Amino acid sequence: MRAVAAASDSGLVQLSEEQREIVGAVREFVEDQVIPVADELEHRDEFPDKIVQQMREMGLFGLTVPEEYGGAGLDLMTYALVGVELSRGWMSLSGIMNTHFMAIYLLKKYGSDEQKQRWLPRMATGELRAALSMSEPGAGSDVQSIQCKAAKAGDHYVVNGQKMWVTNGLRAGLVVLLCKTDPEAKPAYKGMSILYVEKDPEERRFEGITIPPNIEKMGYHGVETTELLFEDHRVPAANLLGEEGKGFGYIMDGIEVGRVNVSARAVGLATRAFEEAIGYAQERQAFGKPIAQHQMIQEKLAEMGTKLEAAKLMLMQAAKKKSAGERSDLEAGMAKFFCTEACHEIVTEALRIHGGYGYSTEYTIERLYRDAPFLLIGEGTSEIQKLVIARQLLERYHRS
Ligand SMILES: Cc1cc2nc3c(=O)[nH]c(=O)nc-3n(C[C@H](O)[C@H](O)[C@H](O)COP(=O)(O)OP(=O)(O)OC[C@H]3O[C@@H](n4cnc5c(N)ncnc54)[C@H](O)[C@@H]3O)c2cc1C
Repeated sequence: MRAVAAASDSGLVQLSEEQREIVGAVREFVEDQVIPVADELEHRDEFPDKIVQQMREMGLFGLTVPEEYGGAGLDLMTYALVGVELSRGWMSLSGIMNTHFMAIYLLKKYGSDEQKQRWLPRMATGELRAALSMSEPGAGSDVQSIQCKAAKAGDHYVVNGQKMWVTNGLRAGLVVLLCKTDPEAKPAYKGMSILYVEKDPEERRFEGITIPPNIEKMGYHGVETTELLFEDHRVPAANLLGEEGKGFGYIMDGIEVGRVNVSARAVGLATRAFEEAIGYAQERQAFGKPIAQHQMIQEKLAEMGTKLEAAKLMLMQAAKKKSAGERSDLEAGMAKFFCTEACHEIVTEALRIHGGYGYSTEYTIERLYRDAPFLLIGEGTSEIQKLVIARQLLERYHRS
């Protein structure tokens, strides 16, 4: 319950009894059901069916879905704290939830009543899970240069294009698709829209959508990341989110939720790495005493612990601002940048503290070490976060 303690102690957030109970229940679940099997499932790159079923039964997929649609109606702060706990067990579990929550967030904010009725109740139970697809082979950081097109044809859009790096791409029944409805628009963002694409989960071929074999990754195993190939795939016009031409603004709003999630993942992963390292340092003997009694190891532990606490506070600040319904480019960008870089440093130091054993697949730190770099990339790289942060700071401190 460390994350909860840090949040309350800082005075940044007051957690309700309900929030404490949920986060506590998730922590217990992670201890009992996730940690004992995570290393093995990760090494086999196996989707955690049983764990996801348990997460469904706990109501985790509906945390932020309003009660009228069958969810728990909780805020992004609760989601962030749950993300920390899950990632402390296995980061991939949080990856299974992240795009789902971004889809829920966008639907709640910009969707029509009919769309909410149609999808939210099944999303709340986790029966219907969502992916989010922006990136393409030639467009990642530079979102406006995507090429995937959706041409209006009567009461449908006809989608053609190639999407890359779609986490949950296979098992999702709903894909939040960023595409161009007006490829000639200048500037390009004015021609971008979001379609909610329905498909059969687990089918690699579905009505003009082809999903090639999953992308092989260094880490972040268990959850699939895929390409999506669209060839004259027809999407009902009723699946357009909000207004045509506003998709870029919507996705930039939604990505702040993703950045809070990635910050939470970083805090969870770093917490686990720190726990593994501080435990190992007290057991491993060198030069006649536990290595924790050597000052250079203590220096590492002090730096790791301090960075971890700072990361938790940054996460809380960003989650609090976004929970209040405000745009939070600056806070989410700073949190994403700081938490993920701190996580990467903490995990690297934890590996060093393990010495040669850190390099063995028998120790959890090896998995954490392969998972951490993804956090520097997903939902916008560190370089892109710095651009976002600097833009906001220059606006805030503008001198004419
Ligand atoms: C495992 C995994 C899962 C993913 N899941 C999803 C998903 O579910 N949905 C989705 O849409 N995407 C997903 N992505 C894609 C991810 O968001 C992109 O990889 C990321 O945005 C970077 O884009 P890119 O890979 O095209 O790199 P590029 O944009 O080509 O960047 C390459 C390098 O150039 C730097 N760079 C680029 N522009 C600038 C600039 N202006 N100034 C300075 N440096 C710059 C970058 O920081 C980076 O270091 C996933 C990626 C991975 C690896």
